[in-house]
Formats: sequence, C-alpha cells, structure tokens
Amino acid sequence: MTTNIQISSQRLWDSLMVMAKIGATPDGGVRRLSLTDEDRQARDLFARWCRESGLDVLVDRFGNTFGRRQGVEDRPPVIAGSHLDTQPSGGKFDGAYGVLAALEVLRTLQDANIETQRAVEVVNWTNEEGAIFKPMIGSAVFTGMVSLEEAYRLTDPSVGELKAGLQRIGYIGDRPFFPQRVHAYFEAHIEQGPVLEKAGCQVGVVTGAIAQRWYDVALQGQELHAGPVPMELRRDAMAGAADITREVRQIAIKHSGRATVGWLRLEPGSRNVVPGRAEMTVDLRHAEDRILTSMDIELREAIRRIAGEHGLGADVSQLVHIQEIRFDPVLVGYVRNATRRLGVSHMDIVSGAGHDACNLAKFVPATMIFVPCAEGISHNPHESANPDDLAAGCQVLLQVVVQAANAPGAAGSQQ
Ligand SMILES: [Zn+2]
Repeated sequence: MTTNIQISSQRLWDSLMVMAKIGATPDGGVRRLSLTDEDRQARDLFARWCRESGLDVLVDRFGNTFGRRQGVEDRPPVIAGSHLDTQPSGGKFDGAYGVLAALEVLRTLQDANIETQRAVEVVNWTNEEGAIFKPMIGSAVFTGMVSLEEAYRLTDPSVGELKAGLQRIGYIGDRPFFPQRVHAYFEAHIEQGPVLEKAGCQVGVVTGAIAQRWYDVALQGQELHAGPVPMELRRDAMAGAADITREVRQIAIKHSGRATVGWLRLEPGSRNVVPGRAEMTVDLRHAEDRILTSMDIELREAIRRIAGEHGLGADVSQLVHIQEIRFDPVLVGYVRNATRRLGVSHMDIVSGAGHDACNLAKFVPATMIFVPCAEGISHNPHESANPDDLAAGCQVLLQVVVQAANAPGAAGSQQ
C-alpha cells in the first residue's frame, strides 16, 4: 500500500536551516562534534520537534534517540534516520538530511492522520562521523557489533571517556537495544560524490556500499647529499613513493575501483637531501570485495617491484578491511518502484562511504536513498543541496516507509 500524500518541501528546508544554526561557522558550514554542547542542543531541538509532532521520544543506553509513532499493531517498527553530528568543518546536510527527512515523513503522517500497521520511528544515531571516538559507533552498539561496556570505555582527548560525555550532555536513556525487532531501516543521505549530479538524477537507488582496504606503507632508502650522488646510486624513498602512487592510480582505473594516496611524509624533509624514508597511506575501494582482493594483490606486487627497482625496504600494513555491503533487495525494490511511480529521475548507485545503514544491514533489512549534493562536495562547509532534490528524496522516503510499515509479514529477504 502506498500513499498520495505529500511531504512539505518548505518545512523540510526550514528545519534543515534551523538545525544548521546550531554549530554554524562563519564560512557557512557546521561544526557539531558528537557529545559537545552543540550536539546536546541539536539533540534537544530534535527531541522537542518530535514531541511537538506528538511522537514519543525514547533514548537508549547509548544516547541513540528515537521519535516513535505508534502503529495499529504491536509489531517490529520501521525505522528511518541518520545522524546530527558533523565533522569539524562539516556542512548543513550530511546526516541532518536523513534525520530531518525522516522527521518530515512522520510529521506528514501525523498531519494527514494516516494509520500504519507497524510503528514508524525516526532515529538520530550517536556519533556517526568518528571525528572523535570511532565512526558509526551508535549503530554498532545498537546492533551488538560493539558491546556497550567496550564503547562506554572509548576515550578521546577532548571529551574523556565516552560514557562521561553522554552523561554530561544528559543522553543516557533506558531503552533497550532491539536489533532483532527492526522490521526495516531506511536512511536518506546526500550522495557525497558527483555521480547523481553528473547524470542529472534526483535520487540514487542505493544497492550497497563499497568494500574498503586501508594501508600504511613505509619505504626505507638512504639519506644522501642531493648534489654529489649520481642518480643511479641513490635509494630515493620519494621516487619509490611517486612510482607507487602512479601505479596505485592505474590499478584503480583498470578495475573501475578507487585508490587514494591521501597522506605522505618524508624524512628528513630537506630540499638538499635525497629522502631516506617515505611513509604513505593507501585507500583502495571497490563495489565488489572479490575485485578488491585482486587490487590488493596487485598493490602488494607493485610495491614489491618498485621497492626492488629503487633499492628500498618496503613495509605494508593493512589497517582496515571492510567487506562490501549489499542492501536488502526487497527494500531496494521499494525505493526503485517509488521513484518510478513518482516520476523522479533516478539511477542505481553504490555508496562510496560508510553509513549507519551499513551496520544495520548486517542484521536487519536496510537500504538508503541518495540525493545529489553540489559538485559532490561533502565534509566541507560549502556542502550544498537543492531543495527540490531534498524534497524528492523525502517523498520517496515517505512512500517506502509507508509501504514497509503496512507490508504483511516480515520485510526484506533476510527474515
Ligand atoms: Zn553522514
């Protein structure tokens, strides 16, 4: 069952702009780090808006906050949301859009007095960004991927222990975690890349999230005077790092994946000295873990070969391996069909970033809805999105939330 009611584009936009005032920076961005006073203000505003709309506000033991609208039956709820924390120099839309689009869906259902069989909830997850502590820790604790005790003990120099930070802002509640009782989870989010804008699509039907491997690479050569030593007698760590950087790029292009050398440090770092040591990061990503494994093998081979050519010692350590996420095909189908029914331009897309939905997807039927952001710029004060695109994504969210909330039996293909 679907609905013909319309979300309010203006109310969604106004809510985003009011929320963006909390932690607003002079350059038009938002700095709202988790567990700071700004985070508390954003949480308080969200809770107030939920109550004003007649929703029950429930806070779990990790500060994840839910606005609940009862269903006709007492069955596992449909949940939609995202996060209200930002990066240190973040924008107005990353995270906030997903929370406030879900709130707009609930406001619309309230105003139109539409009953749903299951309860529908909007959620604001604690600390998605990982600017402090770990990324996506709120949804990780909710799903049981990380124990509450372990997460409480995480420390950050600016906040101290995470539990103390939650206590300080007054967001330790008593709602138990209930990952086995989520019927379906939807997360609307700006794409944070340029693909939808380039394709002229208003909505991305997100089929999954990209697999990732992160590495530290250290190359050991020999520091030498930049003048007297002929080229063929050098063991230049920077020359090796440059060749590796070029090779890494070729590996990504060959496999239609992504590769980034985002950080590089040289020793001793003098214009007159052949670098004796280079340390660099490599980030490899691909939609399919199987192909990422091939990229991993090729990266290691390239480093071995290039180090040999330059007479360097090479040390490669892999820090992170995140498997690809495939979102629930039934819910992905809901999103695709809703965009078709509404006449919204759309395309299938794979998320290049991690989201709370990736944690949820390991345990419950989950998927995401992307909308474009200008020039793909995100984690940046100049992050920008078009009100019409935001409204289109929210209208799709309304459709799929209502469909899931009224669908008979268990949602998705996992249950
Ligand atoms: Zn986000």
